[in-house]
Amino acid sequence: MTVNKNTKLLDLLGNTPMAALQRINPNPAVTIYAKLEGTNPGGSVKDRAAYSMIKGALDRGELKPGMQLIEATSGNTGIALALMASLFGLSIELVLPQDATRERVLSMEAFGAKVTLAPTMEGAIDYANEQVAKGGYLMLNQFANPDNYGAHYRTTGPEIWRDTEGHITHFVSAMGTTGTIMGVSRYLKEQNPGVQIVGCQPMDGSRIPGIRKWPEAYLPKIFERERVDRIMEVSEADAVQTTRRLAREEGIFCGMSAGGAVAAALRLAGELKEGVIVCIIPDRGDRYLSSDLFAG
Ligand code: PMP
Repeated sequence: MTVNKNTKLLDLLGNTPMAALQRINPNPAVTIYAKLEGTNPGGSVKDRAAYSMIKGALDRGELKPGMQLIEATSGNTGIALALMASLFGLSIELVLPQDATRERVLSMEAFGAKVTLAPTMEGAIDYANEQVAKGGYLMLNQFANPDNYGAHYRTTGPEIWRDTEGHITHFVSAMGTTGTIMGVSRYLKEQNPGVQIVGCQPMDGSRIPGIRKWPEAYLPKIFERERVDRIMEVSEADAVQTTRRLAREEGIFCGMSAGGAVAAALRLAGELKEGVIVCIIPDRGDRYLSSDLFAG
């Protein structure tokens, strides 16, 4: 990209780089590319969805002058929305559970967002809904918003197709709202229906920040099971160990959901005769320094 005086921060959204794993890949006949979403301006894959949801609401006239955005979130979405609200000159209130880490609260406040703490995540959702009911607020609701997966259909998917020159055979992504996997699956299957779409989720009893194994009744509204060819479950221990190996052996400093997705990709690579796997690395390790992810 050439830079000139009209280059703006939003031009730096997406077009994230990919690097092939060099040391932890168990199968030399398979290439595993890590797509580094932590290089987005707000530090995570969620910048894409946040931009797309705010832009969509503005274009459709749902977000009118004087209205405020509100969202219950504890993670990357909150930081991404705070960044995008600052770029669009919008006010935003983010409602977080009390146990949200200090660096997350401070990151959102750094972009000028108002942060409200609730006792629990459920409490945060209830509070946000109450505010919306009062009027003057718009909730983007990433779990049900087509602009969430639309961002990945329009950008992440095409970037992967372009950068692998159409040679991708498998796409691996951790699933939270499922926006990433739903959008990328739509795009890649249109180019080549043979591309295998693999979702990664935590095993029962395992906790991996940013992703969930959703009980049937809580599945995100945007999730369509038939767009995922295979779901692989990863234990918390495997996700932690792979996150640490990524940092120590590959120089890739990332969060635990990336470790989970790469753990699934390594298992998959071991099963294949050959192939080209692309695995999403949703964010950077800095965001987890106050946890014990990298300690010991
Ligand atoms: N990993 C992390 C750390 C995340 O914050 C998210 C977003 N919740 C994901 C993975 C999953 O992305 P998506 O919501 O698009 O499924």
